[in-house]
Amino acid sequence: MTEFQRQTDIGPPHYERFLPPIVKKNYGAWDHHELLRPGVMVHVAASGDRLYTVRVGTPRLLAVTTIRQFADLADAYCDGYLRWTSRNNVEFLLTDPAKIDPLIRDVQALGYPVGGTGNQISSIVHTQGWVHCHSSASDASGVVKSVMDRLFPYFTGSKSLPSKLRVAYACCLNMCGAVHCSDIAILGVHTKAPVISHSDLPKMCEIPTLIASCPTGAIRPATVNGKPSVEIEAGQCMYCGNCYTVCPACRINNPESDGLSIWVGGKVSNARTTPQFSKLVVPFMPNNPPRWPEVVDAVERIVTIYAGNARKHERMGEWINRIGWPRFFKLTGFEFTKYHIDDFRHAGETYNRTAQLRHERGS
Ligand code: SF4
Ligand code: SF4
Repeated sequence: MTEFQRQTDIGPPHYERFLPPIVKKNYGAWDHHELLRPGVMVHVAASGDRLYTVRVGTPRLLAVTTIRQFADLADAYCDGYLRWTSRNNVEFLLTDPAKIDPLIRDVQALGYPVGGTGNQISSIVHTQGWVHCHSSASDASGVVKSVMDRLFPYFTGSKSLPSKLRVAYACCLNMCGAVHCSDIAILGVHTKAPVISHSDLPKMCEIPTLIASCPTGAIRPATVNGKPSVEIEAGQCMYCGNCYTVCPACRINNPESDGLSIWVGGKVSNARTTPQFSKLVVPFMPNNPPRWPEVVDAVERIVTIYAGNARKHERMGEWINRIGWPRFFKLTGFEFTKYHIDDFRHAGETYNRTAQLRHERGS
């Protein structure tokens, strides 16, 4: 592909321009990888070339000064090459193993931990929370910091797990985080339909656009106090907040009824078993800032029981499928409620979710 063909009007430049030379040279010809110690791994190419990775946890919301510090370290130790993972870790890519220890020393001196590889918990992928998004049912950074402070030994490797464990957080059901496909997921939930300010609505919002914004058709036109407005059929609302996005007069945030739920058993990987969607464990926990102790305790309980009961290499969802959900609820002590019954007609079970194919004779 020529440089001209790579040019686009929109979007990022072609990724190939940013690949480290060793990756370009061995593209598609990697043989295997090994975990050398917590946070450090090596990829070995068929040619014998070796690429070392040092994984560092970040808080996701980074100051420009922090990014400059990481870039300076990449210049000093990695010929300028580093990458961010989808779960907010930063990975330094080295070709000289002698530079690994000095790099780790400098990273730790800046206050960032090294770990999150192999059968450990990597950084929690999360969303914007109260810092940024109007739809959020809870904070993101605050909950994630509180949970990760408790799970930290599983990041550094001082406590071990049967398999890798991916934790995700999203502050509403639009799920900008990977909540549907993580071993443990914390999800902010609204539990009441938006409250309409009929005095503000005609001044702030276009009614046809507002009606069209609702994915379940719960909003319909209405005349209130002689003026055009809308009404919401509460039983049809799934608390997604889309209407609030297009119309600030339909407020969904509610300090009393907003809270958090916990889901488990999702995964993206096709290894051994097919990918799985996560399933509900705790339908509602109250917002309790600044440290959300109920949520932290619940997540730690799930991790501890998984660590003590799953077989080697068994992901959370694989373990639960083996022992059965009744046994999972019994072991963890969470209550099974009516909210756990999935009666949605187009539930995820009906979709093909895997790259694994099965050809049947005669079909
Ligand atoms: S998950 Fe929801 S509240 Fe959180 S950033 Fe995304 S849209 Fe906003
Ligand atoms: S919150 Fe979502 S489902 Fe409920 S009325 Fe608004 S757009 Fe419709």
